[in-house]
Amino acid sequence: MGVSILTLISSNLGYPRIGERREWKRALESFWNGNISESSLEETLKDIRLLNLKKQKEKGIDLIPVGDFSLYDHVLDTAFMFGYIPSRFQHMEPTSLKTYFAMARGSDEAEAMEMTKWFNTNYHYIVPELENKTPALVKNRLLELFQEAKNELNIEAKPVLLGPITFLKLAKQYDQHDFHKHLSALIPVYVQLLTELAQAGAKWVQIDEPILVQELDDSSIPLFKEVYDAFHKALPSLNIILQTYFESITHYQEIVSLPVAAIGLDFVHDHGVNLSNIKTLGFPKDKILAAGLIDGRNIWKASLVSKAKEIDDLAQYVDIDRLIIQPSCSLLHVPVTVQNEQSLPSILKNALSFADEKLDEVNELAQYAKGKRTIDDLKQYDRSYTDFIHSSFRTNEKVQEATKNIGAYPTKRLDYTERQKLHKKRWNLPILPTTTIGSFPQTKEIRQIRLKWRKGEYTNEQYESVINNEIKKWIDIQEQLGLDVFVHGEFERTDMVEFFGEKLNGIAVTNNGWVQSYGSRCVRPPIIYGDVAFDQPMTVKESVYAQSLTSKPVKGMLTGPVTILNWSFVRNDIDRISVLRQLALAIREEVLALEKNGIGMIQVDEPALREGLPLKQSKQKEYIEGAAEAFKLATSSVRPETQIHTHMCYSQFEDIMEAIDDLDADVISIESSRSHGELVHAFETYQYKREIGLGVYDIHSPRIPSVEEMAKNIDRALAVLDVRQFWVNPDCGLKTRSVDETISALKVMVEAAKTYREKITAAQI
Ligand code: GLN
Ligand code: ZN
Repeated sequence: MGVSILTLISSNLGYPRIGERREWKRALESFWNGNISESSLEETLKDIRLLNLKKQKEKGIDLIPVGDFSLYDHVLDTAFMFGYIPSRFQHMEPTSLKTYFAMARGSDEAEAMEMTKWFNTNYHYIVPELENKTPALVKNRLLELFQEAKNELNIEAKPVLLGPITFLKLAKQYDQHDFHKHLSALIPVYVQLLTELAQAGAKWVQIDEPILVQELDDSSIPLFKEVYDAFHKALPSLNIILQTYFESITHYQEIVSLPVAAIGLDFVHDHGVNLSNIKTLGFPKDKILAAGLIDGRNIWKASLVSKAKEIDDLAQYVDIDRLIIQPSCSLLHVPVTVQNEQSLPSILKNALSFADEKLDEVNELAQYAKGKRTIDDLKQYDRSYTDFIHSSFRTNEKVQEATKNIGAYPTKRLDYTERQKLHKKRWNLPILPTTTIGSFPQTKEIRQIRLKWRKGEYTNEQYESVINNEIKKWIDIQEQLGLDVFVHGEFERTDMVEFFGEKLNGIAVTNNGWVQSYGSRCVRPPIIYGDVAFDQPMTVKESVYAQSLTSKPVKGMLTGPVTILNWSFVRNDIDRISVLRQLALAIREEVLALEKNGIGMIQVDEPALREGLPLKQSKQKEYIEGAAEAFKLATSSVRPETQIHTHMCYSQFEDIMEAIDDLDADVISIESSRSHGELVHAFETYQYKREIGLGVYDIHSPRIPSVEEMAKNIDRALAVLDVRQFWVNPDCGLKTRSVDETISALKVMVEAAKTYREKITAAQI
């Protein structure tokens, strides 16, 4: 490989797109709302992009990525660049922004492309639809970005692109037998793209193949050989970094032997496997190792001293001048900078490292590798994290004691069938009971009032009375609609995890710690920094007030321990299962507080249950068991008469049916109307005995479905489920819908349920 002594040593894999203050989101949304023109959008985005590059340069990063910036999602960018435009958008201009956004978000005429989670992160990508199209390089956006960095900032950037095999494995709508046909068509297109980059002066290109960390079967390996042989043959002097992340690579030896200049490995989330492979199997002498040493998934400062030791360790197997120091993955998954955090306690703030600070860490380590820093210098840096780790403000001995005695807490309730009898007697609900998932529309007014309350412009009493009015309004609406089981509406919550994060001890929320979740939507994951403890009731007041207004049961509404864990940044000084147990015990207290105050149905949402599933199948069982244990810890201490509900958003539940059953919840609601009957299908083979509501309409769309449509969904479910176990509810919470849309759709839903009931009573079952 044409690389000799390396003068560059630090690299970045990707930088957050969103800007320090979510400027990116605001620009996009203004454009979508028609408030700014396309050229003004382009201008703002270019400013953000160039600022991002400049910052990385100032931080001393040698290999700065381009192509990581996106207007929506990098997988969509790849599909778009290669002309994979689904036929329903084919009437549109293939390179226009309008088409791109229509594919991402849908248009009046055509449904949006599907979105799904990016490996084990909370980032969602757009699923490419191939439809047997022949790919072509419609527009070389990487070339444009490479030239922009060169011309505007004199940066010789490193273009980053998604590799062809991962791209195809993530795509859908093609016959799997045709995989190779698609790959063969893509190879020359990639070669053309790389050739144009090389001609423009690009020396380094990063090709991401994260699929390599999953348990690929042996037949996939020759495909990698075919692809990277072809690239090498066409461009022998282009330095390709074959990049992997999120876990260790399988097939280590075959992969490191591919004809590329560098192999990028994750040394943070590999459970030590990448390193041990290097130690036992060696690393090819002619290659560069791009070592992902700084955690790109979490927000804690690294211990540079231990990282320096890792470098020393690696240097025994790889020449130090063949080592690139970099984060473990793209920094897309962490917020931009700690600098804008004003309200965190300083001891915590000083222990944090977001994207900008992580690049400083990369640079420090690179300096160390070059001999320009000593271990003593690095010790200096490590001090603030060490102070934090040893500070007492994050320890709660009672909690630690409780988790040590975890076996003392019940995880088993009275047998389900016995409970069910008690519940039938207690509520005497009609068959096909109707309910909703929890939230009702969060109108602009409510959000504005909350903001004012946070700023101190509203007193607690004023704020509470606004919330109570809203609760009352919606109890009345539910009464008029004729629903059977009510909710209070969750008006007091901005976000289902943040709300509990603010109220539980040991968890902090940030002012500006945003990360992109999907499209322009950003989330602010709470930071679990210490022992998690219940402080005082968090939801009782609203639930009790709502229940006082009606004789119908009102469900208490909580977020489950697994979801809080999976949607937060978690401390890394103890293992995740211990944190999960602490969360479970804290939520348990709230469950008991609700029960004590007369709430007889309690819903503990676990929409993110599946999200923490390890990438390696061999580790999944342990995770599932831990998750089920946590849910049961939180919910099993109630009386048998109390009915525990849970809710999950759809994401391939077919293969974890048993785990869902194992939660021992009395009633579960699952998002299902977008899953094209796949979930329903799962119940043909799995004998599910508990009560269940498979969403009968999609809440993501403003469209109001007809009674017939909903009846059809009920029919479909009742083909595999007993009518006595089925609940009628929407797919998910209604917080993003308008008041009118919500009322109209629920009216239809109640009518559909009633019609069905009459039909059944007539048939006298
Ligand atoms: N109870 C929550 C709501 O209705 C559930 C949200 C979710 O599943 N993501 O908003
Ligand atoms: Zn949901």
